[in-house]
Amino acid sequence: MTGLPQDHERSPSVAALAVQVNELRRDLKALKAKVDAVTRKQHEQAVVLNDMAELRRQVEKIFDLVTEEDESSRPWFWLTMPEREREEKVSELTDWVETVLRAQYPDYLADQIRPCWPNHLEARWELSWLYQLWSAAYLGTRSGLKDAADWHDRWSPGVFRRLSHVMARCERACQRRRRGGIEEPRRVAR
Ligand SMILES: [Zn+2]
Repeated sequence: MTGLPQDHERSPSVAALAVQVNELRRDLKALKAKVDAVTRKQHEQAVVLNDMAELRRQVEKIFDLVTEEDESSRPWFWLTMPEREREEKVSELTDWVETVLRAQYPDYLADQIRPCWPNHLEARWELSWLYQLWSAAYLGTRSGLKDAADWHDRWSPGVFRRLSHVMARCERACQRRRRGGIEEPRRVAR
């Protein structure tokens, strides 16, 4: 308060200053409460955003699983398959028949499924779905014990039985033809 006299006249009294300080303190307190509320809100929003991101990740994961499962559960349709895909599928099927099926179930296959099976259309159709079911039972993400049991008890015996009839009529000439080939098989004389 060392100012000029007129300043001194305009200077508020100590009591007035005290009132102002008190008001400022109250404003500050209200402001702090607002800042706290905003901070709390932001924290809540961050949690919600985080939850949403997690939910989205889970939904995408489920969607991937579902589409993957859909794709693998569709039977191979040889009639409209592009040639390149057909070659790949025959090769994949041959790998399974010769390295898994023939190695693990030698007696089941014995004479029923001869090495010339790719020359027989019946064998391609039958073994392809049998292979897909086997893959689903043993490699599928949602398969259970019953799927493995069904494969052995319900699905594979019929295929082996039917193909044994097909192979019984198979000629020697057929067995000399290219194995695992993708050529269209000639009808075997009956
Ligand atoms: Zn044959």
